[in-house]
Amino acid sequence: MAAMTRDAAVERVRTRYRDLLGSATDANEWPHAWRAEINRGGFRAVDFLADEIIDAGKCVGCGACVNVCPADVFDYDDQHPIAARTDACVLCVLCAEACPILRPPDKDLGDLVRYREPATDEGFGPYSYGIYARATGPEIKARGQDGGAVSALLVHALDTGTIKGAILGETLPGQRQLGRQRLATSAAEVLECSGSRYTYSPNTLAFREAMRNGVTPLALVGVPCQIDGLRLQQNSSIPHAMARWYRSNVALSIGLFCSESFTNESIQRLAASIETTPDQIKKMNIKGKVVVELDDGRVINASLKKYRQWARPACLYCIDYSAEHADIGMGGIGLDGWTFTLVRTEAGHRFLQAAIAAGAIETQPLDADPKGEMLLRKLSLEKKAGRPHPAKMPTLAERQALGHLDPKTFYTTGPGAAAKANGGASGDAS
Ligand SMILES: Cc1cc2nc3c(=O)[nH]c(=O)nc-3n(C[C@H](O)[C@H](O)[C@H](O)COP(=O)(O)OP(=O)(O)OC[C@H]3O[C@@H](n4cnc5c(N)ncnc54)[C@H](O)[C@@H]3O)c2cc1C
Repeated sequence: MAAMTRDAAVERVRTRYRDLLGSATDANEWPHAWRAEINRGGFRAVDFLADEIIDAGKCVGCGACVNVCPADVFDYDDQHPIAARTDACVLCVLCAEACPILRPPDKDLGDLVRYREPATDEGFGPYSYGIYARATGPEIKARGQDGGAVSALLVHALDTGTIKGAILGETLPGQRQLGRQRLATSAAEVLECSGSRYTYSPNTLAFREAMRNGVTPLALVGVPCQIDGLRLQQNSSIPHAMARWYRSNVALSIGLFCSESFTNESIQRLAASIETTPDQIKKMNIKGKVVVELDDGRVINASLKKYRQWARPACLYCIDYSAEHADIGMGGIGLDGWTFTLVRTEAGHRFLQAAIAAGAIETQPLDADPKGEMLLRKLSLEKKAGRPHPAKMPTLAERQALGHLDPKTFYTTGPGAAAKANGGASGDAS
């Protein structure tokens, strides 16, 4: 009897959700309506999330649902949550609240994130100021992906006790281009995590270890979808201890700029295309081309256009390039060997300035290479271009049927653009 009641509640919510989908409501106003709907609670949101996002192939793998669930309903494997213990669900609906694809961040999230005033928005999210930053320590600089500024900032924060742990990604044993989560509590551990893997690394899963072991305050480094997941967890309007924990204990979020990440198989294919093996690849960087550094010292440039065919399909559902809700956004555009750094919030400002004042980070003005800012604007706009609310995007199976999985071109030159040109609602290609 209880199960029947729950099923009926899920059906009711699904019907309302579908009605919203079919309505002409502005998608940007949508999350408000949707949040009100979710917050009525009383339904097994895990079933709904599984139907609409996970099983639909729309999940980006950010892990917010896994982390925020107070009843440990989810496992996580192969870049996706698994609703493994649905009978344990306590109907708190936090998993649906925190999913950045089911409910992309509301317009009012900015008030909660507290951008540093005066904040301007030039197409890549509100920010206070931008700067090129670089680690001064030779080891960090050598290990860093670009300027090593992310690692330098974290090492300084750990050394001075402003954080006790950092939620990062490390590499899998013997597979240097594949990542997994890591809770780093020392400078040495931060350095073991330095560098970028362009495959998906579920960094946020390390939050559970920090929570279990009482390691706080924390910093998170993540790609934009992971930052959005964290922000929704922190700013949930459901007054629950899990949301409070993330609000109280995550002192800093560093968002990595991200056009898309790539499938694990992409590494094998890339290696084959340049006649090497994955285990020979020491470092990869993406600078308009794929720059591959091999163990034998050779540096090979591969075509980014070709590599893009192995982009992770789920990245279609994320429209944030510059980590618009992070305390600090950081990326490799612009000045070579430096990290493009965008300070968005007061917390970001405090952490960065403390590291600069201590001499852990050196800086240059953005004018040193104006191309960086130009690229940031262009790439941020490109990632949003023509993309409707994820709820209105086709499922993975529908995209497979259309024969077009590339997230970057689906709504520019692919079937999404064609549907729009033919009058399809909101570029809905389904
Ligand atoms: C998937 C991906 C796509 C990116 N795309 C762009 C882009 O389009 N444009 C751009 O300007 N910059 C992009 N970056 C950011 C860039 O590669 C650098 O991470 C950034 O410039 C910081 O450099 P750094 O030397 O200061 O970082 P470092 O000091 O080397 O620190 C890098 C940090 O990134 C973390 N990390 C490594 N791999 C991952 C991963 N897969 N997921 C989450 N965290 C990870 C590590 O734990 C480490 O803490 C991307 C990064 C990733 C991971």
